[in-house]
Amino acid sequence: MQMPVLFVGHGSPMNIIADNTYTRSMQNLGRTLPRPAAVLVISAHWQTKGSFVTAAANPPTIYDFYGFPPALYREKYQAPGSPAIAERVRQVSQNCILPDGTRGIDHAAWAVLKHMVPAVDIPVLELSMDVNLSPAEHYALGRTLAPLRQEGVIIMGSGNLVHNLSRINFDSMYGETYDWAERFDKLMEDLLLKREHAQLMEFAALPDNRLAIPTDEHYLPMLYAVALQEPAEELRFCCNDIQNGSISMRSFVIGG
Ligand code: ZN
Repeated sequence: MQMPVLFVGHGSPMNIIADNTYTRSMQNLGRTLPRPAAVLVISAHWQTKGSFVTAAANPPTIYDFYGFPPALYREKYQAPGSPAIAERVRQVSQNCILPDGTRGIDHAAWAVLKHMVPAVDIPVLELSMDVNLSPAEHYALGRTLAPLRQEGVIIMGSGNLVHNLSRINFDSMYGETYDWAERFDKLMEDLLLKREHAQLMEFAALPDNRLAIPTDEHYLPMLYAVALQEPAEELRFCCNDIQNGSISMRSFVIGG
């Protein structure tokens, strides 16, 4: 069975303990997914020189956010890893992605999986993003992961398609949104539905890009997901919220 491919927004760590339309959409998504052998998360929060995959049997939980309420740091998501699947990632990528036996799982993965897979009974791996790759190279690397879908692995990019921390409104998760955030989010919807992957890769030429994606680390995990879209596969959105004024939580499923 060919596993679906996902891209999810993760947004503010406050979503870890929140109950809102976004967290419910992640819970609903989890209930509709086939049971995978593992989830491989491309993380906006793990930037490296070279590409790496977590390979520990029991990777620790990383609390890579600061200044939030104590309740967030008491949350646990202690899913097992899978050294065997990490080795398969190395193989299918032809040594472009190397195993890392010590790295843990950051909140780009577990903040979402806490809602999506609350039973914590599915192995989780993370893939880093090489800061030296161009968008087209990220896309090409994502494409190499295609065989893993037949081996039971759900591949999930985790970032945000609009992500401007300097304009964020931390006081109100569902307050007013910026016009440019809404415009860019709608443009994303349009380009994704029309399979305009070349335009998605050339995001530096898109209108509003400087405000919507002042840094690209939350945008790039999406390219890994769309790279895996087969010609016959539909893309459907499972969340289109904008949170905190400047963060798009738009999330989608390919082939599921
Ligand atoms: Zn983030």
